[in-house]
Amino acid sequence: APISEPGYLQGLNPPQREAVLTTEGPVLVLAGAGTGKTAALTARLAHLVATRRAWPSEILAVTFTNKAAREMRERVGRLLGQAVEGMAWLGTFHAVAARMLRRHAELVGLTPSFTILDTDDQLRLIKQILAAADLDEKRWPARQFAGVIDRWKNRGLTPADIDAGESEQFANGRGGELYQQYQDRLRAVNACDFGDLLLHMLTILKTHRDVLEAYQERFRYVMVDEYQDTNSAQYLWLRLIAQRRKNICCVGDDDQSIYSWRGAEVANILRFERDFPGAAVIRLEQNYRSTPHILAAASGVIANNGGRLGKSLWTEAADGEKVRVVGVWDGPEEARRVGEEIETYQRNGGKLDDVAILVRAQFQTREFEDRFIAIGLPYRIVGGFRFYERAEIRDALAYLRVISQPADDLAFERIVNTPKRGLGDKAVSKLHMLARAEGIPLTLAAARILGTDELTPQARRALGNLVGDIARWRDRMNDLPHAELTRLVLEESGYTAMLQAEKSTEADGRLDNLSELARAMEDYENLPAFLEHVSLVMDNDADADTAKVTIMTIHAAKGLEFGTVFLAGWEEGVFPSQRALDEGGLASLEEERRLAYVAITRARRKCTIIHAANRRIYGQWTSSIPSRFVGELPKEHVDAETTMSGGESLWRAQWSEQSDPFAHVARAQGRGPGWQRAAAVGPIPKSPGASGRVLESRASAVSIAQPSRKDIALGTRVFHTKFGYGAVVEIEGNKLEIDFEQSGRKRVLDSFVSVPG
Ligand code: ATP
Ligand code: MG
Repeated sequence: APISEPGYLQGLNPPQREAVLTTEGPVLVLAGAGTGKTAALTARLAHLVATRRAWPSEILAVTFTNKAAREMRERVGRLLGQAVEGMAWLGTFHAVAARMLRRHAELVGLTPSFTILDTDDQLRLIKQILAAADLDEKRWPARQFAGVIDRWKNRGLTPADIDAGESEQFANGRGGELYQQYQDRLRAVNACDFGDLLLHMLTILKTHRDVLEAYQERFRYVMVDEYQDTNSAQYLWLRLIAQRRKNICCVGDDDQSIYSWRGAEVANILRFERDFPGAAVIRLEQNYRSTPHILAAASGVIANNGGRLGKSLWTEAADGEKVRVVGVWDGPEEARRVGEEIETYQRNGGKLDDVAILVRAQFQTREFEDRFIAIGLPYRIVGGFRFYERAEIRDALAYLRVISQPADDLAFERIVNTPKRGLGDKAVSKLHMLARAEGIPLTLAAARILGTDELTPQARRALGNLVGDIARWRDRMNDLPHAELTRLVLEESGYTAMLQAEKSTEADGRLDNLSELARAMEDYENLPAFLEHVSLVMDNDADADTAKVTIMTIHAAKGLEFGTVFLAGWEEGVFPSQRALDEGGLASLEEERRLAYVAITRARRKCTIIHAANRRIYGQWTSSIPSRFVGELPKEHVDAETTMSGGESLWRAQWSEQSDPFAHVARAQGRGPGWQRAAAVGPIPKSPGASGRVLESRASAVSIAQPSRKDIALGTRVFHTKFGYGAVVEIEGNKLEIDFEQSGRKRVLDSFVSVPG
């Protein structure tokens, strides 16, 4: 390569260069995990800007997560040696579409300040509609309809597109009509759900030529990462925008399509070549991420899927360690084992940021959390710990929404009697009636009803106070910093007092969360910007500075890489999931297998797969057998070992010696010495499961409460996730006064501290 070559091209292999330098015309990069697709896309963005083919604001670049967008922005800056301003259209489909929709909201009957509903609000709204339609909630659950609507939206279908056949999907053919009512109601409260962000934009682009042409003109270049997981609505939207200039570059891997349950269609890959004839198709085959053993293990598993586009992968990396398969006794041992290994790794100078534990399902994270808190190992949960979904946070946000967005009826409903102020169902339903009759938002109806005798004097007084409060808060919106405003609103509304009066462990935690909320807001310019952030936020990570182990679902790990990866819970019924097994279809099983492929290929150097012989799911013990994917790992690339009870090794076996990967577990389940011995020292399973059929008992599982009193006395050294280590200096009921080594004296709740073992 010539010396004068720009930095962003250095080190790229020939097909990657081609992906970067083929700027004009459609380009499809199809390649396996870790082959540098995202890297090439990032270099391409840098190239377009550096060669002035387009201003940053003229490039539409779609990533799968907000985090990926942030990283791409930073990396482009690094490649160009300076921060790049104005990359306004680099983000997730949702973020980019929301931004667009705010500019054209009027065209679909919204105002630019529309609210983006979350699932909770969405469900409440659907419930109202189903109730008004006299549908029995048990027979026709709101959640189910939410799913139906979502699938329609993912396919780009508006109520007008729902024919009789589609309509059959819900309430005996009333689906279409109810969908229409739902959309009308959303419009009335000036809101949209996530699916609407794209659907409305699609409608606008289809019906307003001028808007479409403006975007076709503006976006000189379009690019998309993780293309295999786009749904139809997203695809149609992209196609409209890119149709004129046709400078569209999509990168993806059909083997990593893991969102079909959210409407993603791998078929979009084939569609691309058809809709953009003459597209340059580029294949990358050199993997830069993983060792040969890891690659071979992943390839061995995915080879069991049919209908693949197929591709070969190679690497120059040294062999490294084989993939390890570890069998443990149960979930707690799994967590203990992983904790120990990470501590050893850390002692040897390893960095926690480079370690991930990937799980199939959210419920699997708790055991690791418990363990890591106990041993003081810093961790973060990505995509799981939904701070903004907590009740108190949602209440606070509802107050703020009412203030900034008078038409937000759902928010108003949420706070109208929280805290209790004597506005019962009767009063609220009167408000609803008035609002509906006059076609006005609830806040306005509230103001109007005050001049009537519709309400009891007590309700009228209460409502009068609330209406007055809201008006006053709205006035303060402009002169008071929004974090201050939040504190004021929580004070004056009586919300804080309500929690304080509760005097429970829980309520104290809630108050802490509310202070945390106000703190989080300070990072945003104004209230609407913050509310927008909350609507869009996917990952929430309060203190990003300390090194931490990452715990996340495989879905959330897409596109990421870690030096050391633990893949937990590879058991039938956990992974593949019980749901995939129940459905029994090949398609759902193949999607699980693609997940397994994604999971293994996240690892750079070290990949450990773990399966437990017993697992407690929703409080119910079940015995499990290793995942079929364990059996699909090519033996020559795998080391297997099985330990039981507290890490004590009962036997170790090279995989090659063990022709049947299930044999050792069968032995354990056959009440061999392994079972008895471990049972004597390990936790006692509630239902040891005399046969493999216990998996079926999960549906009726009951949860078992877990009292966890710790031995805390004056002087005990404890660990608190926020404040770190400290010594107990005072005990008063469940409150502890602790002298923390880093943060000084604090009063905390005993349930929030652990005693390091
Ligand atoms: P995935 O399918 O998981 O999204 P990907 O194809 O997007 O993977 P990248 O994440 O772009 O792959 O790259 C994988 C790793 O390889 C990264 O650490 C990246 O920095 C590195 N890499 C990419 N291209 C090269 C190259 N030409 N030379 C050296 N390293 C590279
Ligand atoms: Mg990638």
